Amino acid sequence: MRGISSGVYYRRIIAAGSGGSVIDCVFCRIIARQTAADIEYEDAHVMAFKDIYPKAPVHVLIVPKRHIASIAELSDDDAEVIGRCFLVARRLGETKGFADKGYRVSVNTGPEAGQVVYHVHFHFTAGRQRGHGA
Ligand code: AMP
Ligand code: ZN
Repeated sequence: MRGISSGVYYRRIIAAGSGGSVIDCVFCRIIARQTAADIEYEDAHVMAFKDIYPKAPVHVLIVPKRHIASIAELSDDDAEVIGRCFLVARRLGETKGFADKGYRVSVNTGPEAGQVVYHVHFHFTAGRQRGHGA
């Protein structure tokens, strides 16, 4: 169980990015329906919505509803929801017609990888040929 007393939740707020926190996390606001987004999928644990600045013809972000700042902040408790994110990626691949053609699922972690939003998100991109890398 997470709580202030465990120190884990507190550490995550402190580590939620450059000046960020759960309270002002843009993806938490989307999940809470306080900020508009083009939602592609939602269940009790995961939400997927279109990237506001798409870098590919299809660009959807898959996020756990629970605030987790980055891959670097994952704990054993997060294993199930991270697995669920990949199942949503599979579903998007199927519903959008890319199951056979292929798609990419990628995660930026930390400043040198270009992580800008410190709420774990999986970039689902599809619709054009791309090489390895970002
Ligand atoms: P990253 O660089 O991996 O942290 O990616 C953050 C992504 O979030 C970028 O591709 C942004 O275009 C996207 N983004 C930021 N704000 C929003 C928003 N309000 N709605 C949808 N996508 C967003
Ligand atoms: Zn968040």
